[in-house]
Amino acid sequence: MASVVVTGGTGLIGKAIEHVINTEPVGSKFGKLPDETWIFVGSSEADLRDPEETRKLYEKYKPTHIIHLAALVGGVYRNMKYKLTFLRDNILINDNILHTAYTHKTAKVLSCLSTCIFPDDVVYPLDETKLHSGPPHESNFGYAHAKRLVDVQNRAYKEEFGCNFIAAIPTSVFGPHDNYDLENAHVIPALVHRCYLAKKNGTPFVVGGSGKPLRQFIFSYDLARCFIWMLRNHDDVEPVILSVSEEEEMSVKEIADAIVKAVGFEGQYSFDATRSDGQFRKPASNKRLLELMGGFEFTPFEEALDLSVKWFSENYETART
Ligand code: NDP
Repeated sequence: MASVVVTGGTGLIGKAIEHVINTEPVGSKFGKLPDETWIFVGSSEADLRDPEETRKLYEKYKPTHIIHLAALVGGVYRNMKYKLTFLRDNILINDNILHTAYTHKTAKVLSCLSTCIFPDDVVYPLDETKLHSGPPHESNFGYAHAKRLVDVQNRAYKEEFGCNFIAAIPTSVFGPHDNYDLENAHVIPALVHRCYLAKKNGTPFVVGGSGKPLRQFIFSYDLARCFIWMLRNHDDVEPVILSVSEEEEMSVKEIADAIVKAVGFEGQYSFDATRSDGQFRKPASNKRLLELMGGFEFTPFEEALDLSVKWFSENYETART
């Protein structure tokens, strides 16, 4: 009997795993197995920075498996302003989860890193071997070092105690339950929200930057399937990048065009090239993922975007904005 606890279960990725596990047929590749219980927990159930609350959570649910998503996450501005808080809160959360899993003999922990913690000065495409090959970008060094330490801890727990603690490294994610905040959100949810307001208020839709930079995104339901697959099938401490392939990079203009279509916006639409573009591209390779899974069919971008926009419109009052 497996008891799977998902920390960060109230967030974008946690909600996607909950959706997939509850909607795919029971006993199927990504659906719930007959002998599995899935529990999704948010911070109101336990503040994982606190060892005692973490211990109580383990004693309440007695997890055999954990998908560990909980983290202090935030946009560039908050990451820059609160570097120590991002470093310390995430170190505490991760250390409590891993050490309590060790003391409670949890069979497996699958933790979540991010491609944004890779070295700043790196030869692209990113791959799993480059995670520690240089310092992260200065803007998020607190968050990035805390996340990198999870990989270090996984290896040390394995070497010293034989623990099965592993990690996934997703690229940028989008989907229902995302953070749609206008200032702090990632590019897709922020543009969806702005386009939605432009349509509602009859105002122009202006996209910051030239529209030329290229980006890779993974739909949260696809990512959820990869997580479920890793939890059940993958026991190697070497982390795995979870991403669409490099060929599926899209320009910000292509993304904005798709958003205009999905929102049904017919007003004035332009790019403000005076705003910064950021890095031109920062592709990650999903070669290892595809080899391990024996291929994976990603949801076409427009279909995933339509679903996300529909969710946002239907949940505008309660969505994180
Ligand atoms: P969200 O911001 O949507 O959710 C964060 C989750 O963490 C929430 O469930 C929140 O609980 C929980 N949490 C935060 N602080 C604490 C705490 N002190 N104690 C317990 N729980 C806490 O994040 P995402 O779903 O986007 O991200 C999940 C993971 O994926 C993170 O580890 C993130 O670093 C990683 N990631 C995300 C990417 C993305 O594009 N979104 C890309 C790559 C990696 P509550 O809401 O109840 O407070």
